[in-house]
Amino acid sequence: MSEASPHIDPAALLKLYIEWGADEAIEPTPQSRLGATAEPAVAQVPIPVQRPAAPPGPAAPAPRSQPASPRLDMRKLGPLDQTAIENARDAARNAASLEDIRAALGRFDGISLRKTATNLVFADGNPAAEVMLVGEAPGADEDRQGKPFVGVSGQLLDRMMAAIGLDRTTFYITNVCFWRPPGNRKPTEAELAAQQPFVLRHIELVKPRILVLVGGSSAQMLLGTNEGITRLRGRWFDYHSDGLEQPIPAIPLFHPAYLLRQPELKREAWRDLLKLKGRLEALRGS
Ligand code: URA
Repeated sequence: MSEASPHIDPAALLKLYIEWGADEAIEPTPQSRLGATAEPAVAQVPIPVQRPAAPPGPAAPAPRSQPASPRLDMRKLGPLDQTAIENARDAARNAASLEDIRAALGRFDGISLRKTATNLVFADGNPAAEVMLVGEAPGADEDRQGKPFVGVSGQLLDRMMAAIGLDRTTFYITNVCFWRPPGNRKPTEAELAAQQPFVLRHIELVKPRILVLVGGSSAQMLLGTNEGITRLRGRWFDYHSDGLEQPIPAIPLFHPAYLLRQPELKREAWRDLLKLKGRLEALRGS
């Protein structure tokens, strides 16, 4: 027996969109999607898992070569996504400086987020610092100012870093997504895949001594895992990429926006910050 299609009340749908954070129209004319056929799903992009890092000690872990397999399984993306990724790879490969990457992103048209965003949000802080933070995606404040982590969650992140003696002169900060997703939704796998070559090149050029992966999207992309942030946070990993001679120790942290919603997790977050502080002190002492 076929099921009758449920009646959808447009006013209720609009209310739901607003509740879910859709706060702007992205096309000049409204479109009814109620009768549209389902879009082909963009499959999960499995990424090879990086191994947990050895605990810090006098002997640094031996450099390991990058696994031959790419982080993304290109076969699972649509042809337009694949073209965007290829173009991103070419552009990122040719970037020899941070300014080159910023300029290449400015020219990159393989991502529709740029059409709805006000500004490219590239990075802030000191690119010569020992610590590089990589978050998820800009929100409304970041989009307006063109700088990462300047809104409420960024202010909490700044306070967390200040608690272990770091500020934007002693860390560098960016995101795995360089344009604001409309309504602050999470970036899709395909959007992240198209930006990933720039993110990897960005890290290679900054070559920090420690990477801090702020939130699940960043940790999953850069560690090549589908594990959730609750399992990843507070553990040290070796981050590898083709253009790095040595792995970089990387630690995932809870995203400050998550901590604002779940303040009871601040105790765990504090433990993770102390691990970061300890590792940084060990590095400086070595
Ligand atoms: N959240 C992020 O992950 N990045 C920002 O830049 C702002 C909020």
